[in-house]
Amino acid sequence: MNAPVQRIAVLGATGSIGGSALDVVARHPDRYRASVLAAYRNVEALATLCARHRPELAIIADPALEDALARQLAALGVRCEIAAGPAALEQAAAGGLCDTVLAAVVGAVGMGSTLAAARAGKRLLLANKESAVCAGALLRRALEDGGGPLLPVDSEHNALFQCLPGGRPADLAAAGVRRLILTASGGPFRGRTRAQLATVTPAQACAHPNWVMGRKISVDSATLMNKGLEVIEACVLFGAAPEQVAVLVHPQSLVHALVEYVDGALLAELGHPDMRTALAHALAWPQRVESGVPFLDLAARGRLEFEAPDTRTFRCLDLAYRALREGGDVPALLNAANEVAVQAFLAGTLPFPGIPDLIEAVLDSLPGQPLRDAETLVHRDLTARMKARAMLAGMCC
Ligand code: NDP
Ligand code: MG
Repeated sequence: MNAPVQRIAVLGATGSIGGSALDVVARHPDRYRASVLAAYRNVEALATLCARHRPELAIIADPALEDALARQLAALGVRCEIAAGPAALEQAAAGGLCDTVLAAVVGAVGMGSTLAAARAGKRLLLANKESAVCAGALLRRALEDGGGPLLPVDSEHNALFQCLPGGRPADLAAAGVRRLILTASGGPFRGRTRAQLATVTPAQACAHPNWVMGRKISVDSATLMNKGLEVIEACVLFGAAPEQVAVLVHPQSLVHALVEYVDGALLAELGHPDMRTALAHALAWPQRVESGVPFLDLAARGRLEFEAPDTRTFRCLDLAYRALREGGDVPALLNAANEVAVQAFLAGTLPFPGIPDLIEAVLDSLPGQPLRDAETLVHRDLTARMKARAMLAGMCC
């Protein structure tokens, strides 16, 4: 008997991950259906996706755009339910229209819907790393309460999942794991000095050498904060201690992560830098489906290079380790300060080296607190943002 069609809520459908996921979904109509599509403000792109994928529900997170979405859908002859506002994402993530949730919203704003999906026991495909960074222990608890599987989409964590016994073993030491090693391309500014970074532009920062991604994560890759967030994400998803997670620069981005075992074996996952492989894996696990990604010809590629990260020039990685060691809600404060700093850099009001400076200043001025619950966390996230904006105003004037 054929397995029932998986009904997927794609939260962040209009983004880079959303687009890659829908490409894989469309290749397997017998297996997958995008039953819910959600975006923030991009009404036109959302309506176009609805015309193509015919979901049961379309959500626009900005409530002011509900009528605009209704008009666009009517113009395209699409009939589906419409919902608006941030709460609609959480309701859909926990609701009956889906059994799988792809959390692909960008930023800490994705936390509520990620937690709702986990609590409801949905099959959770996690791309929104900021949820894991900010909500850490809350996410682990929600997963235990809900009892559904978490499949990491972030390519490094998806690679770790593939190289670890059982995907996410309960006890890394018992599984013979010594270290989890995340690779980083080094971003577009690898090899530059601090002085050279003073004048780089948002367009240069967003021109990633290997991956095509949204603007926020592209800047995070350029500062190495993306890798810092991923170190925290690895600790949350795999129960690792900070000293068990290492970072290795690998400019070709073909090896996505490695697991080092106590006997000296290193297991790695390789593939083209195309998120459709990780998405197809997360969708189909424990089976495999075609993703549309070409097969990797290693003989044609020739070389794989590795080097240590330059943490003196790219200070964000060490700031993330600091937040991880301080624990409690400090990773959420780090993330909030980073989101404000990246926005300011993209808007042209903060130079690139100001990103780690601002984050460090926020961490120095706001002592961490224990991670209590989602409501307190939202409040602390806001406090860190307000502090960062106030400092930013001081830095710019
Ligand atoms: P994009 O910027 O390309 O897309 C972001 C998506 O989130 C869009 O659909 C956007 O809608 C939606 N969105 C933004 N703000 C809100 C909001 N307030 N409420 C609801 N939806 C919102 O980002 P990416 O696809 O690059 O990244 C998505 C997530 O996946 C991030 O957490 C990123 O770190 C992670 N990730 C991405 C990778 C990649 O290759 N791109 C790799 C690994 C992880 P709209 O278009 O309407 O603004
Ligand atoms: Mg990644």
